[in-house]
Amino acid sequence: MMSRPYNFSAGPAMIPMAVLEQAQAELLDWRGTGMSVMEMSHRGKEFTQIAEEADADLRELLAIPTNYRVMFLQGGASSQFSMIPLNLLCGKTQADYFNTGIWSQKAIAEAKRYCSVNIVTDSTANKFTTIADPTTWLLNPDAAYVHYAANETINGLEMHTPPDVGNVPLITDMSSTILSRPIDVSRFAAIYAGAQKNIGPAGLTVVIVREDLLGQALPFTPTMFNYKVMADENSMYNTPPTYTWYLAGLVFKWLKEQGGLVAMGKQNQHKSQLLYQAIDGSDFYNNAIDHRYRSWMNIPFTLADEALEKPFLAAAKQAGLLALAGHRTVGGLRASIYNAMPEAGVCALISFMQAFEKSHG
Ligand SMILES: *Cc1c(COP(=O)(O)O)cnc(C)c1O
Repeated sequence: MMSRPYNFSAGPAMIPMAVLEQAQAELLDWRGTGMSVMEMSHRGKEFTQIAEEADADLRELLAIPTNYRVMFLQGGASSQFSMIPLNLLCGKTQADYFNTGIWSQKAIAEAKRYCSVNIVTDSTANKFTTIADPTTWLLNPDAAYVHYAANETINGLEMHTPPDVGNVPLITDMSSTILSRPIDVSRFAAIYAGAQKNIGPAGLTVVIVREDLLGQALPFTPTMFNYKVMADENSMYNTPPTYTWYLAGLVFKWLKEQGGLVAMGKQNQHKSQLLYQAIDGSDFYNNAIDHRYRSWMNIPFTLADEALEKPFLAAAKQAGLLALAGHRTVGGLRASIYNAMPEAGVCALISFMQAFEKSHG
């Protein structure tokens, strides 16, 4: 097997080597059909089988109850910022949003086009390093739904358990944490995730929505943005992103082979603990996030001397550790360690950080 550097990109992110190799082996001729998956009709029996298997495997991995529809859409998680209010206000005019980071803010800005937005809690004042105590949250019982970003990819702030919001439907952006551990889907009215973090290549967005909420879209909702249309057409109202859907399906099979989400959850918690321990054990590196809300997936950190960031990134690249720069809006450094990042990659990063500290500290 070819040896490759470790890629700590937040997204598009690493894909398991075994999946890339299988895609490579099947690239020119998918199982004797004489066609690449890219070249197949999305309505043919071959692609129908690929699509249905991916759907079934995802349902199995997440234990999705039968009263939920699963959609494989385009437009990224960012389109969901509009599709959520367009489809799920269900006749109401108000919605609750957590503001725990940059992706929360983008979702809020879109929702304001369609409804009045109440902020449940706002982490701006603490620079998105923590979430205020639930006793201070302002939950509106008349809200159509409550929206939160389970993992703030840029800030590295993660809510490890769904917030208790009473009977109001709970909706979550899980773009950077879906499939990282088991979840109880029945706690949610809707879950959405762009694929390029923890599912597969960019171009696909998975949406899981409770069936009884469908069919109440705002009247001016574009057809392509209407969940009911997309769900009734099995995500094939128009041509879906077929190749990305296929690759996501290979990732789902790989996850099943790894032992499913219980095994992934253990690994992800362990990997993140190793890295946080290394950061906390040094005065040279710092992560400012409240320990209760530290992300398992995206770990931002700073150097005591900011001037060393560029040399750090250059030396890391030399050592085969790629894409460790923080998001352009916040700077600093960030290691994204999704499912496909092996523990050996995290250990290689830690060894590198310790050696860099020795030579520059
Ligand atoms: C990456 C990301 C998005 C945006 O995803 P796109 O697919 O680029 O639209 C939204 N929310 C979260 C939490 C993300 O990590």
